[in-house]
Amino acid sequence: MRYHVVTLFPELIEAALGVGLLGKAVVAGTIEVRTLSPRRFATNKHLSVDDTPYGGGSGMVLSVEPLAKALDALRQEEPEGQPHSHRILLTPAAACFDQAAARRLSKLPSITLVCGRYEGFDDRVRGLVDEELSLGDFVLNGGEIAALAIIEATARLVPGVIGNECSLDEESHAAGLLEYPHYTRPRVFRDEEVPAVLLSGDHARIARWRRQQALSRTRALRPDLFAQLQLDATDRVLLAELDAEQTS
Ligand code: SAM
Repeated sequence: MRYHVVTLFPELIEAALGVGLLGKAVVAGTIEVRTLSPRRFATNKHLSVDDTPYGGGSGMVLSVEPLAKALDALRQEEPEGQPHSHRILLTPAAACFDQAAARRLSKLPSITLVCGRYEGFDDRVRGLVDEELSLGDFVLNGGEIAALAIIEATARLVPGVIGNECSLDEESHAAGLLEYPHYTRPRVFRDEEVPAVLLSGDHARIARWRRQQALSRTRALRPDLFAQLQLDATDRVLLAELDAEQTS
């Protein structure tokens, strides 16, 4: 998977790429991440890439021209015969990135992430991209943290990036559920014991308990996700059992 990040702060992206599994994936060549600053395409003597907003108002706006030229330059470097890199504009004014989007994007050969700064960008940049995504309903100073989040969430779904790929199927959001709780040593911590079922060695009981916990956590913590689940008869029994235990 190839990633390009159009950013005024390449060092922010590069700093995160030498670390952990992402760093290993870069060294192994499983993923490739390149940055490009729109400042390289500024034509004025101060190399500025922003300007005051038409109509007045506070803050500065990223100009469309340097961003367009950066995107054009990336397109010219694309390997022949391959589909164009999928361009994503990072903005809080868009649909939120989620695990379904991560899965969809992880199947693409190349993604270009366009980071804004200041008050955002000239709205005509929106016409240069394939998609707009927000990291969530909050405002960051720039798109770099959002770009890194998208790189990490998609790269870990690329075959070869995570050692144990089976673990991906059970993670939170893989199947619309939050993940069940995990425990490791010590067996007792400040009077709190590890649930006995996990020490039983009975794999069927453990799997049943984990499903029950995932269902119950999702219902308690994310009723919005729970409402979208298609519960089967076993799931309903698991939840009823838990409710009965809690009321007894
Ligand atoms: N004035 C803009 C607004 O109200 O929509 C916010 C601009 S923000 C300070 C600067 C840049 O940070 C944005 O252009 C975008 O690239 C990035 N950014 C901020 N919050 C984001 C979010 N939740 N998701 C993705 N990118 C974000």
